[in-house]
Amino acid sequence: MAEKILVIEDEALVRDLVVLNLKHAGYEVTSAATFAAGAAALAQPDVGLAIVDVMLPGGEGFQLVRDARDAGARYPILMLTARSEVQAKVRGLDCGADDYLTKPFDVAELLARIRSLLRRASGSVAAAPRALELGVAGFSVRFDTGRAVTSEGEVTLSDKELKLMELFSRNVDKVLARADILEEVWGMDAFPTDRTIDNFVLRLRRLFEPNPESPVHFVTVRGRGYLFRP
Ligand code: CA
Repeated sequence: MAEKILVIEDEALVRDLVVLNLKHAGYEVTSAATFAAGAAALAQPDVGLAIVDVMLPGGEGFQLVRDARDAGARYPILMLTARSEVQAKVRGLDCGADDYLTKPFDVAELLARIRSLLRRASGSVAAAPRALELGVAGFSVRFDTGRAVTSEGEVTLSDKELKLMELFSRNVDKVLARADILEEVWGMDAFPTDRTIDNFVLRLRRLFEPNPESPVHFVTVRGRGYLFRP
């Protein structure tokens, strides 16, 4: 089944050139020529990749991309810009586009970029459901929804609790220093203290350890950090 590619471009010459070449390359192609038509087309459920021009009648492509991402669109988006400034590139990537191409562009390069984006997209989809569910001592957690069966019944883990569980699940039987946990789970968001991390681990013990006072799954390694063993 051919990938469906959506082309949003108001200049008929450019649009026709892109559409014809994509069809020739075997893709299924739809197109739109205005901001409003583009917005409707981006919301279709079967879009495999979108090519979005920046300057459109009725609005800017940046806004289209931002709205599509806000609405949950996960397909790759390549922006076309007539401007060669770094600014346009940065704005495009900031609003959620994956790549950009400056007009005038070479059709062979456009096709190469599209192949690369589609390859990356299918790779990430395949890698995502790696381990959807983790079992700990008869309890369990689902990484897609955050729903967990715990000693307190069925609960939904918070974003940080879930990230911490994911980190532990990727590092079974390895000691994680508090600094590693901080960087992986909190990143640049905030600056929690070691005490914050300890409290999150205590919470996970209460939820998943049969006996939270003598933990066997979320183990403290004195002076080094924590070790997880499901
Ligand atoms: Ca334009």
